[in-house]
Amino acid sequence: MKFLIEKQVGLMRTGVIKTPHGEIKTPAFVVAGTRAAVKALTVPEVLALGGQAILANTYHLMLQPGVDLIEKAGGLAQFMGFSGATFTDSGGFQIMSLPKAKVMKDGVMFRSHIDGREMLMTPEISMDAQRKIGADLHMAFDLPVGYDGEADFSKTKQALSTTHAWATKCLEAHQGEKFAKQALYGVVQGGKFTELRKESAEFFDALPFFGYGIGSIYNAREAAELLGAMSQILSPERPRHLLGMGAEPLDLFVGVENGMDTFDCVAPTRQARNGALYTFDGRINIKNAKYREDFSPIDEACDCYCCKNYNKAYMRHLFQTGELLGLTLASIHNEHFVVQLVKKIRASIENNTFLMLKNSFLKRYYGKITP
Ligand SMILES: [Zn+2]
Repeated sequence: MKFLIEKQVGLMRTGVIKTPHGEIKTPAFVVAGTRAAVKALTVPEVLALGGQAILANTYHLMLQPGVDLIEKAGGLAQFMGFSGATFTDSGGFQIMSLPKAKVMKDGVMFRSHIDGREMLMTPEISMDAQRKIGADLHMAFDLPVGYDGEADFSKTKQALSTTHAWATKCLEAHQGEKFAKQALYGVVQGGKFTELRKESAEFFDALPFFGYGIGSIYNAREAAELLGAMSQILSPERPRHLLGMGAEPLDLFVGVENGMDTFDCVAPTRQARNGALYTFDGRINIKNAKYREDFSPIDEACDCYCCKNYNKAYMRHLFQTGELLGLTLASIHNEHFVVQLVKKIRASIENNTFLMLKNSFLKRYYGKITP
């Protein structure tokens, strides 16, 4: 397991994460495979749109089908028929989002959203679950804040000290032969407070994590400064993953510019299922009546399978009639759009054209140049 930097310009860089299941050329958008499946897409479709890696969710897989079953199946990649690199997140965010989650010193008590049974998640349990799931890249179990919109300085500081205590336990548990082919990311927290973000970055930088996840960032525009502050502290030779943010193309530009290497987000496929499709001129809703007799592709400049073979009128028809094919084609298009956008960003760093790409893309997409 290695991370190699190819080119560095300010905080931005291109590089490659080498895993036992193949390489991830960074910056990269990691495809969401929350429950060991990419919604509406087969693995060949994911590969055809340029997907290099998939991120699954520890919380969801613990509940269904259970981590022991995935271990028996030969691990996540084998189980889902994917031969590339895989990530798991720790489950912390999903568990803390549950209504009855109760934070204790050693972990979080929560009730399964499926059958209501009471369960405990601790750093040790998360590490063991992630080992059994068998992804290449793991995330430390953390305590995210601000997901419910209310996290003042003292609450955030308190949560941060818990995150740090748990990170140490994750690191201690993630040792030995059984983790030899799996690498661990520490998850930097600190909410919206620069002081706490810096403190957290310094804490994680002093520990031997393979890489860093950046948690609890919900808005790229507000986060740019925070991301930059963390990247200035975090060792450049370790990869940085911005957790769960990539709903907007702007997030991706701001993230890369401020030192992020990989991204994941469920938004591209989720929006696709609602008929909200990315185009270079902004997002459109394909269910709109104005597309009834529009026989042009979703985007002329997109070379995904959907745009090469189908038009807006047909896509609208699929959504109007509730045909499942609509979900697959829309998901192919949206995921392709985002994965390929990050690939273009990567190429622009190599060619020294990042700012040109950023300005021209954002101007067309948002109708203005956005910071
Ligand atoms: Zn397309």
